[in-house]
Parts: sequence; structure tokens; C-alpha cells
Amino acid sequence: MDANEQFTDSIDALRKTGVRITPQRKAVLKYMIETEEHPTADDIFKALSSEYPNMSVATIYNNLKLFKDTGLVKELTYGDSSSRFDFITDTHYHIICSNCGKITDFHYPGLEEVEQLAGSVTEYDVSHHRLEIYGLCPECREEI
Ligand SMILES: [Zn+2]
Ligand SMILES: [Zn+2]
Repeated sequence: MDANEQFTDSIDALRKTGVRITPQRKAVLKYMIETEEHPTADDIFKALSSEYPNMSVATIYNNLKLFKDTGLVKELTYGDSSSRFDFITDTHYHIICSNCGKITDFHYPGLEEVEQLAGSVTEYDVSHHRLEIYGLCPECREEI
């Protein structure tokens, strides 16, 4: 699915919830689809405020919460104290810089096996798992 399809599908999903589709809402959604980063509400504000002077950090945060409730983005609560957001695409894992809090995606298949094993040895009904790797990002490594 390309970015345009993701955008159209997401707008459809939002319409179904009955919310108004405002230009600001569209801009935040588009930004989330296109970014490779895992931005905070502040990051998005910095990127969009010149184009949308009426936009506030609170507006962005409310939109992100709405997208989260609609199942379009995930809120990431690790790394540093401020929430970062990730548009939900395929399953991927995160490596987090313990110095600057940057989050980078990586793909690693096969952890479903761990879920199955955990379920069968404990008789839990497994719902999901979390895996985070921590370290220093390339930029921070250079500074040290
Ligand atoms: Zn770093
Ligand atoms: Zn991610």
C-alpha cells in the first residue's frame, strides 16, 4: 500500500467515526504517514506550524489521540518521557537511543514462535508482546 492509499483509507476510517475532517487533521495525518521518524506532538508542531499558523501543540495532540483511538497510530511510551507516535503499518520492532531518545525501526520475523511457545507452556491466551532494544544511535556514538 502506498502513502496515497494509506491516506485515503485512514480518512475513510476517520469519517466512519463521525469526526470532521479538517485541513489541520489531514495535515497531521499526512505527516504521520510520510515521516520515517517517530515524532512527538512538539516535533509535528515544529514541522507544520509555519504552514498552519492556527495550529497548536494541543490540537496536534488531540488529533494524535483521535488517530490512536481509531487504530491508525500507536503511542510509544518508552525512550524518553514525552510520547512519540508511529503510524501503524506492518509489524516492526524499535531500537531506542538511550542518549537522545531517537527511535529507529527494524524488521525481525519469527517472534510469533516465542508467543506460541509462551502460550503453550503457560496456558495463557497470548495477546501480544513487546520488544525494545536500547543502545546509542550513530550520531550519539560519534559525540562520545
Ligand atoms: Zn542518539
Ligand atoms: Zn516504528
